[in-house]
Amino acid sequence: MFWFGFSILCGVIGASKGRSGFLVFLAAIFLTPFLTLIYILAVPKHKNVDPPIDSASSVDIACPKCAETIKRAAKVCRFCGLDLEAYRAEQEKNRGSEEWIEQRFERWLREQNPPVVDPHPDGRAELKKGFLWRLKQGEIVD
Ligand SMILES: [Zn+2]
Repeated sequence: MFWFGFSILCGVIGASKGRSGFLVFLAAIFLTPFLTLIYILAVPKHKNVDPPIDSASSVDIACPKCAETIKRAAKVCRFCGLDLEAYRAEQEKNRGSEEWIEQRFERWLREQNPPVVDPHPDGRAELKKGFLWRLKQGEIVD
């Protein structure tokens, strides 16, 4: 009984370290609970590797119309149905104009992680400087 209880304890500790509690329990039952306990206490905590967070600009983009997150390669927004190819063609035509820069800046704000919503006018001016710089560096390609 002691052996069994100790094995369960090992399993619980193992589970708390991100390992399979049941496997540790079995190991403890069939091997030695004491050794298993020492082992499971000694091993470092199993790290839960967080999936890398994609920045808004790498894989997904915000729809310029409805601001929902869509795939960069999408041709039509699956939320609002905006024809993105036509939209991009239009943007390309106007690219560099004051209006385009303003529109693109607004979109860029929404693409930030977290999105910038309704920034303070001073902050907005700063952000715009940063945006224009990135634009000049060719970091903003679409
Ligand atoms: Zn949309």
